[in-house]
Amino acid sequence: MAIPSDPKQVKQICFDRINIPDVNRLAVARKHGAYEFLPTVLSEFDSARIIDEVKTSGLRGRGGAGFPTGLKWSFVPRNTGKPTYLLCNADEGEPGTFKDRDIMRFDPHLLIEGMIMAGFALGVHDAYIYVRGEFLHEVNVLNAAIAEAYEANLLGENILGSGYGMHLTVHRGAGAYICGEETALIESLEGKPGRPRFKPPFPAVEGFYRSPTVVNNVETLATVPAILKFGGDWHAAIGIPNNTGCKIFSVSGHVNKAGNYEVPMGTSLKTLIEEHCGGLQHGSAPKVVIPGGSSTPWLTAEHYDTPLTYDDMMKAGSMLGSGAIIVMDETADVVAMSRRLAHFYAHESCGQCTPCREGTGWLERVMTRVENGQGTEEDMSVLSEAATHMAGRTICALADGAAAPILSMLQHFPEEVRARLLEKAA
Ligand code: SF4
Repeated sequence: MAIPSDPKQVKQICFDRINIPDVNRLAVARKHGAYEFLPTVLSEFDSARIIDEVKTSGLRGRGGAGFPTGLKWSFVPRNTGKPTYLLCNADEGEPGTFKDRDIMRFDPHLLIEGMIMAGFALGVHDAYIYVRGEFLHEVNVLNAAIAEAYEANLLGENILGSGYGMHLTVHRGAGAYICGEETALIESLEGKPGRPRFKPPFPAVEGFYRSPTVVNNVETLATVPAILKFGGDWHAAIGIPNNTGCKIFSVSGHVNKAGNYEVPMGTSLKTLIEEHCGGLQHGSAPKVVIPGGSSTPWLTAEHYDTPLTYDDMMKAGSMLGSGAIIVMDETADVVAMSRRLAHFYAHESCGQCTPCREGTGWLERVMTRVENGQGTEEDMSVLSEAATHMAGRTICALADGAAAPILSMLQHFPEEVRARLLEKAA
């Protein structure tokens, strides 16, 4: 790895090898540091030390919730008489998010190495990567990398003579958004329809086949090798307190250079968009920025300087989520966009909870009416009430995610919605 040992010099972690040609192949990856520190971890570290390092690092889950990874690992009960499972959540279905697929297709050995280290810490002997169904290329790359890792005794029994063994299997989902929710993912992996479970019990205690299970995102697991190599304190010194390390942001929309950018946490939204993404197209100003995937509340131009951290995004009224930043300039039609998102969530609701099943359908129907010029002023309060009553009353957060764009539209652009109603009525 060429990652600097001085945390102040660190610009990226997971994307460190991303531009090296053929780094998906084991021989190339090894030349550039892959699995270099694994023998040390397997021979000199134990479970408690690894979990302590990850706790010290301040690493928070990169899939969306931002829960501290080391703490999650520490919840796993030991000596239950049941196997413990490690599941990598590679479903990446949140609209706007496309970062994990880059790790998988370009540097799969980074993820595999992170999973071996995590598996060793958690006493896991069977691990799975649950990949979004559409990611066929990524699945093929992962399977080829896993085959090479087995061949080199980096997976399987008695890894590198350490006495520790772990098997790793890639599972393709069927393309349902809800399977990115960890308990729906578990249900799906068990061969059942992907429907979220009531919590508690949480997966750490009762997950895959009702056994202790840790579900971590791809980027989270891919960060583990660097943390163990350089130490938890090193990672904690990158970014800002409580928001440590680097984070990959998937930037799309009206920017000149859309793509994935890994930057230290705390970099401002404006710096990311202006300096890394070449600014907005045609030099225009941002009208809406969705900072963490389509299910997170919208920000507007007044929040352009907000640092990209979990805490600052909360203060600004939104969430960092998966780091999928969707940027829209003043030409954006917020009504059309909200209607499109309402359709997405209505289609993806698993239907278990009445507020979500019925509410997402209502939002879509009313938004379609509004967009097609058949809406009335009353529809604004119908949308507001339906969205407000859906949020926080369901098994999982899909309903909150469905409500977010509608509530954001009404909060920030009520006049635009009203003008749309009048214009269409005229
Ligand atoms: Fe299913 Fe929606 Fe309930 Fe989540 S909130 S469990 S998606 S019905």
